[in-house]
Amino acid sequence: MSAPQIQFRDPQRAKALAAALQRAVDRAGRRMALMHVCGSHEQAIARYGLRSAFPRELDVIMGPGCPVCVTDLPEVDEAVALALQGVRVATYGDMLRVPGTSRSLADARAEGGKVEVVYGVSEAVRLARATTEEIVFFASGFETTAVATAAEILRGPPKNFSVLSAHKYIPPAMEIVATVPETRIEGFLAAGHAASITGWGIFEGFVARHRLPVVVAGFEPLDILAALVRLAELAADRTPAVENLYPRCVTREGNLPAQEQLWKVFQVEGGHWRGIADVPDGNLRLRPEFAHLDARRRFRIDLERLRDCAPDALSEHCICGKIMSGIASPASCRLFGKECVPDTPVGACMVSAEGTCRIWHQYGGAPQWRTAP
Ligand code: SF4
Repeated sequence: MSAPQIQFRDPQRAKALAAALQRAVDRAGRRMALMHVCGSHEQAIARYGLRSAFPRELDVIMGPGCPVCVTDLPEVDEAVALALQGVRVATYGDMLRVPGTSRSLADARAEGGKVEVVYGVSEAVRLARATTEEIVFFASGFETTAVATAAEILRGPPKNFSVLSAHKYIPPAMEIVATVPETRIEGFLAAGHAASITGWGIFEGFVARHRLPVVVAGFEPLDILAALVRLAELAADRTPAVENLYPRCVTREGNLPAQEQLWKVFQVEGGHWRGIADVPDGNLRLRPEFAHLDARRRFRIDLERLRDCAPDALSEHCICGKIMSGIASPASCRLFGKECVPDTPVGACMVSAEGTCRIWHQYGGAPQWRTAP
């Protein structure tokens, strides 16, 4: 029996699915735009060159699926200020070069701020156990990652550990994208890992409100192609429905113990997502019961000290927000691949391994015949 990874990368099946996708788009008889909201989907699409197999009349666009990219300037500023105040800030490597108003965490470290790179919240807790210094975990990521933070908090971290939460909740962001006036999106591919936590049933309300189909997809090339075929069929027929094409991991109810942990620790709050908009209920913040672990309540964060340095003049040309809203592509940015490259990123979308600009720079995002959305 073939290994599962090979099974989901079978070229013959991929060709058959590409033909089915063409038929679905032909049946619509119009140019079609479908959106996924996951950096892992964009990585797989770019890495395996799937766009070259998509119909020319189909645009598959990445939306706000990179948690690092949507971490807002004031959230980065808070982490930078804490580091410059002498608090040890532990965070993912991707977060280091995300620009704040005047500095990134990497800049803060260069100025003597205490910034540690960790692989996850458990490592940050281990750091705290090994020292008497205050350790703040600057937590980013969607609900999948927030569950890990919640579990660690419920396990009881040491007294010198706290969390600066920049965790985001993806379903409300889909609501925003669906109502962007210029949007051409006719359906959404939902991320299988997030849906494994929340369950696919969470999209039923969205589908009813916006009359747009949602299909849950896994991350292997055939998972993505099969889900796109079904999504294009539903869009072609203008059938608003939720379908789960990742049943080996996702159920309607999702992971109930993980949901219980998530909502025991976090509550949703409205807030700005970088470059996009205010997203009602889009931020995950610690509940009042966990105020003693909330860095925002534990420390007086001195943001005034960040006013001594002007923002990067190039950043005003960054169109990350338009890219994440699905109304532009990296190819539309005048800085892409010139002033803005992974070694010298101007915007957050070029920093993270899950950012659209970074992925397009690494793998090439679209065949040359494909026009920018
Ligand atoms: Fe922003 Fe750079 Fe992407 Fe342009 S290429 S949108 S400057 S991150």
